[in-house]
Amino acid sequence: MDDKQFIPGIYNYCDRWCERCDFTQKCRVFHDTHKEMNQAEDKEDFAKIISKNLNKAMEMLINFAEEKGIDLDDIQNDDQSYKEEKQKFEDAKKHPLADKSMQYVNAVDDWLKENNSLDKKQKTLLENIDLGIHLDDTDKALREIEEALNIINWYQFQIHVKLVSAVNSYPHDPEFEDTIQNRHHSSAKIALIGIENSMKAWQSLLELLKDDEDFILGRLMDLQQLKTMVYKNFPQVDKFKRPYFDD
Ligand code: SF4
Repeated sequence: MDDKQFIPGIYNYCDRWCERCDFTQKCRVFHDTHKEMNQAEDKEDFAKIISKNLNKAMEMLINFAEEKGIDLDDIQNDDQSYKEEKQKFEDAKKHPLADKSMQYVNAVDDWLKENNSLDKKQKTLLENIDLGIHLDDTDKALREIEEALNIINWYQFQIHVKLVSAVNSYPHDPEFEDTIQNRHHSSAKIALIGIENSMKAWQSLLELLKDDEDFILGRLMDLQQLKTMVYKNFPQVDKFKRPYFDD
């Protein structure tokens, strides 16, 4: 595929849910990973693809550094700067946004483990539905549960990762970045998308899993608090426009 057919850097603004993305044909990451992975026949093929993609990533990094006039060797040798970056990342992992989102990850993990039986029951019933066995209205409810759990699973850890990244990238570097269109807003916005989609998913479960009402309300509260914290820390986040996705 011709490089010109890709939208440069679009994969920096998405939630990585390629199966649900409208831009797969324009995305270099999708092209380089998913298409090749689907064609891989064995472990050796996978290993080759991963190694090839790492080399490509290195190539892109070197080109980017050259464009910006950054000497990568200097960076590698700059112990002080490396230590500061490392410390900043460690601090970001302890930020209240990181703490709160990790609490959410753990609570959801525990609940999913405890509710393994729900998962099994859901799978069996879905198989029966696929076989055409009449199951009253349960098919619709089960599909809704499955969809909600998919969404919750998808964003559960991503919210945390993006919030740590937002804190770690703050403040922006005025030499390379805009006051609004910058990395911390990009990460915070993707985290917000995850939070909002997860809240909708929990809300749909609230109707369907009456026995878990208290737990679900607790997670909705976690996510609402996270949302408030995101706006408090990044009050201009809504002004950030994800190229192509928000156009
Ligand atoms: S832009 Fe779309 S296709 Fe590309 S990595 Fe993101 S979700 Fe996947």
